[in-house]
Amino acid sequence: MMTSNLEHKCSICCKPAKVEHLGRADGYSIECEVCGTYMVDGSLFASLKSVMDSIEPWKLSCAIRMRSDKGRSNIYYSKDSLVETIEQTRFPSTPVEVIDNLLLLLSKRNSSYGAKILCSSRTDYSAIGLKDASEMNAITRFAHEQGFIISGSAMQMEITCAGWLRLDEIKRQGIDTNRVFVAMWFDTQMNSAWEKGLKTAIKNCGYDPERVCDRPHNSDICDEIIACIKNAKFVVADFTGNRGGVYYEAGFAHGLGKQVILTCRKDWFEGKTEGKDDEKIHFDLNHHNFIIWDDPDDLAQQLTWRIKATI
Ligand SMILES: [Zn+2]
Repeated sequence: MMTSNLEHKCSICCKPAKVEHLGRADGYSIECEVCGTYMVDGSLFASLKSVMDSIEPWKLSCAIRMRSDKGRSNIYYSKDSLVETIEQTRFPSTPVEVIDNLLLLLSKRNSSYGAKILCSSRTDYSAIGLKDASEMNAITRFAHEQGFIISGSAMQMEITCAGWLRLDEIKRQGIDTNRVFVAMWFDTQMNSAWEKGLKTAIKNCGYDPERVCDRPHNSDICDEIIACIKNAKFVVADFTGNRGGVYYEAGFAHGLGKQVILTCRKDWFEGKTEGKDDEKIHFDLNHHNFIIWDDPDDLAQQLTWRIKATI
């Protein structure tokens, strides 16, 4: 239950916002046009201004707004989770990525062809990963120059045919997603490699790891795998255990033009697994740039570096 307004400023961006105390919990709900809707616990609310000295406010605005726009407005932020939220957010690194974000934002607001779509540089810059309104004005101009949008009167934009073609490409390439498909051996000895290695590294880089459980490959599971790979931004394939399914999934992703990061535990890569001397990585693949790992922590570290360097 919410009680009356206490303040009228967003604690992150300092713009006008609706701030309400959550009656039955020691927390506040904040509705801000820039940062979206979020909740903070009472102690954080009291000290948010000092926390903001140690992190970049615009990054926090973007991180929370992006989550809020995805319907994740019921997240309760604490001091630690604010820092973690920023670390786990992927910020666009090129203007091309921001233009893609703008097109996606517009298409989500109104998918009718030729529609005039409301979009404001004053409040929407955080939704596409930008610092402020002047950056958004520049990106709007670039998108207009590229022929992707028509930027008309104040706050109205229209997606052109070229813009819809670009959106098609974005969807096909999985550019609009944070999902990463993981192909691997589903054996209990791989549990910690998944939890502490693959999953940890992918999440630390701001992506959502996804795998399909190791059931027999009937047609349903196969369709599910294909759909997951098609929708993924990139694929991580771990060849420990030398599973046929992993070769298939990595090959399929490669054929679709997706980036595939190859990993393998050292003993399996070198064919030194006890009783499995003849089982090592197929020679067609073993010249590729594999991440060869010793233990889950080593895997997490190497995979984090590889994702940050290549994706
Ligand atoms: Zn705000």
